[in-house]
Amino acid sequence: MKTDDLFRLDGKRALVTGASRGIGKGVALALASAGASVTLGARSGGEIAALAETIKAGGGQAEALPLDVLDTDGTEQALSALPAFDILVNNAGTNRPKPLAQVTVADYEAVMDLNLRAAIFVARTVTMRMVEAGIAGSVINISSQMGHVGAAERTLYCASKWALEGFTKSLAIELGPSGIRINTVCPTFIETPMTAPFLENDTFRTQVLSKIKLGRLGRVEDVTGAVIYLASDASAMVTGSALMVDGGWTAG
Ligand code: NAP
Repeated sequence: MKTDDLFRLDGKRALVTGASRGIGKGVALALASAGASVTLGARSGGEIAALAETIKAGGGQAEALPLDVLDTDGTEQALSALPAFDILVNNAGTNRPKPLAQVTVADYEAVMDLNLRAAIFVARTVTMRMVEAGIAGSVINISSQMGHVGAAERTLYCASKWALEGFTKSLAIELGPSGIRINTVCPTFIETPMTAPFLENDTFRTQVLSKIKLGRLGRVEDVTGAVIYLASDASAMVTGSALMVDGGWTAG
């Protein structure tokens, strides 16, 4: 196989959660450009419908799937009505940075339920269908550099992402015999609607930049290449791994 072909996803079906904006939107566009038929999951029906139209206008394949992944039963039903997927990008996520003394149970539920519970149960539904259909699929959990280090005001976020890393490794062990690969992508700070409010603070932005050895914030396009690699045959022997896209933050 030619090297370029290793990264192609023609004929593959991909589900991206949180595809309406930020990293998920960029990932969906990249998967479609690599040839996958992409199902766009998010609560904002208008935004994913518009993105599906953009992809189709460019010659790609996409469908919008209005989805609230916090509704575990509703999500399972919606996904079970569709043909099995080859690729899952578990991307929907959130953050509520604050000192632990100010963290409430509502904050805990908002962060852990979306970043961890929803990711686990979407992966459960999608991988059960992969096994049934005999698909040697790929699951990519969008984790974070914060799944490998700690940071002030990020107790909940780090707890959710470290847990996602443990979930990933365990599922990789469980589903390896079925040929299904599970990995994480771990970005540093990427400018998206989620991080824009934090990065508007000059002191915080300077602190962040001082830890990124490459000297700049990440861009959505920095993450998409990692996802295409893990989704494709280029990473056929890679499972249970964490791919850092952190500009060297966790190097030391
Ligand atoms: P974002 O801009 O806030 O986008 C979040 C996405 O998740 C949106 O498409 C949102 O769509 C969707 N979403 C939220 N709640 C949902 C729900 N209940 N059901 C379905 N979809 C839901 O976030 P982002 O910055 O792109 O982050 C995406 C992922 O990357 C997250 O897992 C985040 O932790 C991780 N990450 C981000 C950064 C960064 O610096 N940006 C760094 C490392 C890791 P709707 O509101 O339309 O539902």
